Amino acid sequence: MIAIMHPDCTLADKASVVRLIESEGCRVIVSEQDGVARIGVIGATEALILSLADCPGVAEVRTDTAPYPMVSRDSHPDTSRFKVRNVVVGGKALVVIGGPCSVEGQDQILTAAAGVVGHGAAMLRGGAFKPRTSPYSFQGMAEDGLKLLAEARAQTGLPVVTEIVAPKDVDLVAKYADVLQVGARNMQNYRLLEAVGNQQTPVLLKRGMSATVDELLHAAEYIVSAGNPRVMLCERGIRTFGNHTRNTLDVGAIAVLKAKTHLPIIADPSHAAGLREFVPQLALAGIAAGADGLIVEVHPDPAQAVSDGRQSLTIEAFGEMMDQLRPVATALGRSMRDGADGLPSGHASTAADDAATDGV
Ligand code: PEP
Ligand code: MN
Repeated sequence: MIAIMHPDCTLADKASVVRLIESEGCRVIVSEQDGVARIGVIGATEALILSLADCPGVAEVRTDTAPYPMVSRDSHPDTSRFKVRNVVVGGKALVVIGGPCSVEGQDQILTAAAGVVGHGAAMLRGGAFKPRTSPYSFQGMAEDGLKLLAEARAQTGLPVVTEIVAPKDVDLVAKYADVLQVGARNMQNYRLLEAVGNQQTPVLLKRGMSATVDELLHAAEYIVSAGNPRVMLCERGIRTFGNHTRNTLDVGAIAVLKAKTHLPIIADPSHAAGLREFVPQLALAGIAAGADGLIVEVHPDPAQAVSDGRQSLTIEAFGEMMDQLRPVATALGRSMRDGADGLPSGHASTAADDAATDGV
């Protein structure tokens, strides 16, 4: 439930509402929009709801709120913005994350990183721990791969997004990564969600291939309620009867997620399409549906990729996709950094974006 305060209530009114809630052993989430304080309560009893309605300064008590209060827009009406190194996520600038499915070697990741930053990517992706369908497929370079990602970051300035597959690896991966990716196969690995919630490196949480929007939001609530507010959600395509693409990019889910949660949303057209020739169109669709950014697989030589080569763009094709995105971003009131100067998109380019980061 949520208590919406009168715009002219006093600080003392707010403080006594918070005290009352805490005295009942409930958790409080306070936010403010347009001068109106909203005090969300986790675990409210009927009795507390009744007493809150009578408190001075309370305008309305709403009980029709979402069961995932920390990620819901009910308690935080503005999209949350946070920084990943110098990149603002959730701001006006679209955040494009580019790079290979897997880190395969020094040449490969350094070439990919230089290529994507040259076309305006904001961050570099690359898996060092890979969750593969077959135990016999390449499982990733592990710490050696993480070291190569750190080297690519040092050369390009791009923050690094990489997958984490087990709670025991959190410290190791967080030592190198700027964003911990929780993959589709682990979206409901609750111990992993708690582990990434118990530390402060930002998280990219991918929607499970058969998960509902509601389940994704509950999964995100695990992370945020454990103490890490820096979470982006990723729509990466779901399983449907259609087999013309690897998965079906659920653009409706992007629109619905934007309405239900304040967390930034990233679209993954690569795992949705499975075929590189359809990646740019799905990228455009994801952005048009309201995504705050993209995560796109890019490989210097897709034919030689050890994983997901068929859906990986060449560096040149990534550049073409970025050129197609720019006018669409502008039409939607979003911005994208020109890559030619080597400065990434989603860069902390505006004072407004900087000022609006939620202090995190
Ligand atoms: C990936 O990003 O390479 C990946 C394994 O993605 P997903 O978890 O969406 O399948
Ligand atoms: Mn992949």
